[in-house]
Amino acid sequence: MSNSKCSICATGIVPAGLARSAPMSCATGDICYLRESLATPVEYILQATEVIRQDPVALQRSKAALRDLRSRSIGKYRPCLLVRNAIPGARPATEFLMGTLRREPIESPSIPKVYREFCRAIYPNSGFLDSAHFHTTPPWPHSSQWLVSYPIPLGDNNLVTVHWRFKDESTPAQVYAMDKASLEALTVHSRKTFKEWQARCNKEPEFARAVETEWRVRSAALRPRRRSISDKYLHGSELLCFSPTIATYHSRAK
Ligand SMILES: [Zn+2]
Repeated sequence: MSNSKCSICATGIVPAGLARSAPMSCATGDICYLRESLATPVEYILQATEVIRQDPVALQRSKAALRDLRSRSIGKYRPCLLVRNAIPGARPATEFLMGTLRREPIESPSIPKVYREFCRAIYPNSGFLDSAHFHTTPPWPHSSQWLVSYPIPLGDNNLVTVHWRFKDESTPAQVYAMDKASLEALTVHSRKTFKEWQARCNKEPEFARAVETEWRVRSAALRPRRRSISDKYLHGSELLCFSPTIATYHSRAK
């Protein structure tokens, strides 16, 4: 929803019932904390795009890139919106990943075009042109946050167990979350976005191929320069709780 259509912006009324204190288990709608690359949802998007699926070379490139991202645990710790948590050992958690795109304008030539198609603003980021934005409760504290509006499964079946918090929030704070109505609106919006993308790519295969080619070039440049555990947000003792991708059920249980 654009600013003019957003009921929260129009009325100033934030849905009630979200004020919860951390720590508690991670639930649908919560903003959680995990290690994943913003490249991962792009590979899922490409592999779901019919034009790419029909191109064996492009499809293999994407599959190899996703394997590499997952096997080497490339990516940094970042916020994610939990769509549903895992069933340990049986089903992975599903998430919308969030990122700041290095706080560069999304129109910047250095930002891959595919992000312009799928990134949606988290208010007070007001987005670009007439694109949708979404709110969290409490309000997100900076205006550089984006969410890739394509939900992805995590790489293992471990529970997501850690809520997002900023570095100055070392004591238990309110859980950042998206209310049920906003999450539903986002889910509907993300399906519509992908449907429109698929239709455009089918109509203009050259557009899809150009976006994929540009992505391959740019994503290499966007990879983290070092694979450190960038953990200014965590205390040292908590680092032990993380698997290569997310906080694990088993290590939390120890
Ligand atoms: Zn709004």
